[in-house]
Amino acid sequence: MTGWLAIAGLGPGDPNMVTPEVTAALAEATDVIGYIPYVARIASREGLVLHPSDNRVELDRATHALQLATQGHRVVVVSSGDPGVFAMAAAVFEALEAGPSEWRDLDIRVLPGITAMLAASARAGAPLGHDFCAINLSDNLKPWGVIECRVRLAAQADFAIAFYNPRSKARPDGLVRIFEILNETCRDDRPVLFARAVSTAQETLRIVPLPEASAEMADMRTMIIVGSSLTRVIDRAIGPILYTPRSAS
Ligand code: SAH
Repeated sequence: MTGWLAIAGLGPGDPNMVTPEVTAALAEATDVIGYIPYVARIASREGLVLHPSDNRVELDRATHALQLATQGHRVVVVSSGDPGVFAMAAAVFEALEAGPSEWRDLDIRVLPGITAMLAASARAGAPLGHDFCAINLSDNLKPWGVIECRVRLAAQADFAIAFYNPRSKARPDGLVRIFEILNETCRDDRPVLFARAVSTAQETLRIVPLPEASAEMADMRTMIIVGSSLTRVIDRAIGPILYTPRSAS
């Protein structure tokens, strides 16, 4: 039997936000590989082997997936959100590039998903309506100095900024420093969105002016979107709308 490998995004949490393409790949799969909480979202069934693994073993996971697909298995590697955004697709291609040449003949597809910044943005309104960038605040794979530099330059360029992995137990003070840099660079009270566990039963949204934003408002399930200088709030009795107009002035 011919094996294949799909690297799929499960979206932010709500089953309604899993694409039909991903659902179809999972229905055909013999093996599902991924981080424990993401594999936990897959219903077990006859003929499907689930391979949950711990965080920080992305390359082992990628190698395992490529080996199984080479042996004829139909493998889906799952990520939350989109697999190409701070997730497994790049890890699989790192393993592919370094691995045996036979892996290059494999049928490999990346199946997109709704990434956290788009789910969070949609819930709040349209904060990413003009130019924006996304920055991963985890320093597992890059020096902290690079992160500080990118945050400062992105704020100087007046992008709205979506922050992934804003906080972890391993670096409790990093986000404090990020808000210091943003306040030094922006010097205004633009809105900041803290969107936690978007599209799940635990979802919370909070919008505060930048000078009032603090690290305690985020955890690892939070997406932070810091507006550009033009991002604004429409106040309504039934809840605010956060948006960035389409034009730059
Ligand atoms: N590939 C994923 C991102 C993985 S990094 C994607 O495309 O969304 C993990 C980070 O994503 C978390 O620390 C958090 O910042 C963000 N995130 C993932 N799911 C989220 C959700 N449902 N609500 C808010 N943030 C989320």
